[in-house]
Amino acid sequence: MSKIKVGIVGYGNLGRGVEMAIRQNADMELAGIFTRREPEGIASAAPMIRLSEVEQYIGKIDVMILCGGSATDLPEQGPYLASMFHTVDSFDRHAKIPEYFDAVDASARKSGHASVISTGWDPGLFSLNRLLAEAVLPEGNEYTFWGKGVSQGHSDAIRRIPGVKNAVQYTIPNEEAVRQVRSGNNPALATRDKHLRECFVVAEPGEDLSRIEQEIKTMPNYFADYDTQVNFISSEELQDKHGSMPHGGIVLRSGNTGNGSKQIIEFGLQLDSNPEFTGSVLVAYARAIHKFAQEGFVGAKTVFDIPFGYLPPKSAEQLRRELL
Ligand code: NDP
Repeated sequence: MSKIKVGIVGYGNLGRGVEMAIRQNADMELAGIFTRREPEGIASAAPMIRLSEVEQYIGKIDVMILCGGSATDLPEQGPYLASMFHTVDSFDRHAKIPEYFDAVDASARKSGHASVISTGWDPGLFSLNRLLAEAVLPEGNEYTFWGKGVSQGHSDAIRRIPGVKNAVQYTIPNEEAVRQVRSGNNPALATRDKHLRECFVVAEPGEDLSRIEQEIKTMPNYFADYDTQVNFISSEELQDKHGSMPHGGIVLRSGNTGNGSKQIIEFGLQLDSNPEFTGSVLVAYARAIHKFAQEGFVGAKTVFDIPFGYLPPKSAEQLRRELL
C-alpha cells in the first residue's frame, strides 16, 4: 500500500515535533515542509519549501499538518490551506474554537476537502476525556489541571506583543486544589484558584517594561482570568534555565452514582517534550482524516467526531483482537 504523503506548514517547535513523529510511523512519508521564511536558511532533512509556492503541491500531498501558532497564524492559515488540502491542526484558543471551526468548515466544504481542528492534548486528548467522563458520570464536576509546564500557546502569545524578544510561560497547578478534588470533596474552584501563570520575558532594549507586563496580564482568553507573575530576564538566563519544554496535567471528574457512591475518573499526562508529544497526536489525526477523506467526507471535524479506531494504522479486526 502506498504511504500517506504528509506536508508540514510552519517549522517551529511543533513542526519539528511532527517531523520526528512521522519517522515513527511507517505508513507515512514527509513530502515537504512549508515555511514563510527563506527556506535556504533553515536546516532539515526534508525538502524545505516557500509557503507562497504551496499551490504547486495541490494533488501531491495527502494531508497538511498545520503547525503555526494559534494566536495569529492559524486563523489565517487554517481556512486558506483547507481550500487546497486535507488538514490537521492544534488550534488551542478554547473560546475561539467554534468560530475557527466554522471558518475551516466553510473553506473545506467549498473546496471538497476534509479537516480536523484542535487536536493535540488540550484541546485534544483532554477534551476526549472530559467528554467521556461527563457521559459516564452525569452527576459530578469536571476539573482540568495543567502543568507544571511550559504552555506553547501562551508563550507564543507573549512573543507576539510588540517589544518582546522572547518568552516562556509556565502553568503551575495549585496542589491543594488537586488534593481536594481527588478526595471527592467537589470543591468550587474559580479559574484563579486552580493555577498560577509564571512568565519569563526577554524585552527588546529600551522597551517600557510596565507596558509589556500590563499587556500580558490583561490579555483576554490567555491571562486576564489568572494570577500572573511576570519576570523580565536576559536572553542568556532564558536559554540556560528555561530551554526545555516539559508539560502535562490531569483531567478529573468527581461524581456520584446510585446511593451516593463516590466515583473518580482521572486521566493524566507527564510529558518531557510538549511539542514532540503534540506532534505525535497530530500525526495520528492526520491518518484519521486521510481515512475520512478517502471515504468521501467533506468539511471539518473535531476530535469528538473521529472514532478511536481511525487513529492507528491497524485494521478494525486487528484492533478487536489485540486491544479490546
Ligand atoms: P513556534 O513559535 O515555535 O512556531 C510558530 C510559527 O512561527 C512556526 O510555524 C514558524 O512558521 C514560525 N517560526 C518558528 N521559529 C521561527 C523563527 N526562529 N523565526 C521566525 N519564525 C519562526 O510555536 P510552537 O511550534 O511552539 O507552537 C505552535 C502552536 O501549537 C501554538 O500556538 C499552540 O497553539 C499549538 N499547540 C497546541 C497544543 C494542543 O495540545 N492542542 C499543544 C502545544 C502547542 P514559519 O516556518 O512559517 O516561519
